[in-house]
Amino acid sequence: MPRPVYRSRSYKKVYRRTPSGRTVVHYERKKNTPMKCARCGTILAGVPIKESERRTLPKTLKRPERIFGGVLCPRCLKTVIKRVIREELVPVLATKSSPQQTVATQPQPVAQS
Ligand SMILES: [Zn+2]
Repeated sequence: MPRPVYRSRSYKKVYRRTPSGRTVVHYERKKNTPMKCARCGTILAGVPIKESERRTLPKTLKRPERIFGGVLCPRCLKTVIKRVIREELVPVLATKSSPQQTVATQPQPVAQS
């Protein structure tokens, strides 16, 4: 069992081989890694690189305040939104806006004479 100070997720296990051939476990602090886009892997702008800043800063400073801010880069977000609209919204609008169906579904008023 590791010492209590090393039972934290901010340390990572590193296996080192000693000169005598024995493998021992060392604990190293994790390095600050920049956040990357979930789709293409580019480094996200507007997200702090330091892990401590990501913990302590207010939420509005941790990521861009748009949809999928801090998850997707703007280029990927643009393509995702375009694809979703083309696949889901355009067929729905095409069926709704056909004029023959809308006229046929409305009931005709009965003329009294
Ligand atoms: Zn991306």
